[in-house]
Amino acid sequence: MNAPHRLAPLMNALTVDVEDYFQVSALAPVIARASWEQRECRVERNVERLLDLFAGRGTRATFFTLGWIAERYPHLVKRIVAAGHELASHGYAHLRASEQSRGEFLQDVRRAKGLLEDLSGQPVQGYRAPSFSIGHGNPWAFDVLLESGYRYSSSVYPVRHDHYGMPDAPRFPYDARPGLLEIPLTTTRWLGWALRRVNTIDQRPAIFYCHPWEIDPDQPRVPGTDLKTRFRHYLNLDKTESRLGRLLRDFRWGRVDEVFGLQH
Ligand SMILES: [Zn+2]
Repeated sequence: MNAPHRLAPLMNALTVDVEDYFQVSALAPVIARASWEQRECRVERNVERLLDLFAGRGTRATFFTLGWIAERYPHLVKRIVAAGHELASHGYAHLRASEQSRGEFLQDVRRAKGLLEDLSGQPVQGYRAPSFSIGHGNPWAFDVLLESGYRYSSSVYPVRHDHYGMPDAPRFPYDARPGLLEIPLTTTRWLGWALRRVNTIDQRPAIFYCHPWEIDPDQPRVPGTDLKTRFRHYLNLDKTESRLGRLLRDFRWGRVDEVFGLQH
């Protein structure tokens, strides 16, 4: 007898924001930008560990890569692309969209796109704002992304949080502008049951994100941070890699452009 017909599980989008530990917005008050150049860089080996982890599971993902990193690690960008992942943009300088003028934002997102396209030889369609910083105060950011040739953004987090979030935003992809899809983050992190709920109850793909520094328990501790920031940034770093491994095992994952039908 045949087993009852079951639909193949939905494919979810796996995304990585490629930046180093000293570029995290929450640490910005205690890390001067001018010091970035002197800091120990750990992004390269951490991204390579993620690439190995993904390769071991046959998983492809989207890497929203900071222009500042791409400029310094061109080989890393090439390795990401050669492994079959989608290269997307996290802007150039990791400035929140909400702290830039329209002109500054335009320069930042264009510079990153040009750099990533030159290095990869491929069009870059996607953009993610640092700290999910597109919201009610700066809807022009979507116009700028469209003008700059992006086709989608994943910059809205429909939650309430002290640093980011637009709690009344749609939970699922919507046309922010004709020709520009906004793909909001699924409002869960590390919670397998919640991802499953989105897949089975809502029947929608989830979109998940992580950072290379999250799998690096040995990263230098930055002095001067407040308790809440320390708790958020450093707690459970030693468990992240195994959690990620479990999510990769328990769900189907793919690149943003393949999950949301944006392949060119
Ligand atoms: Zn970031």
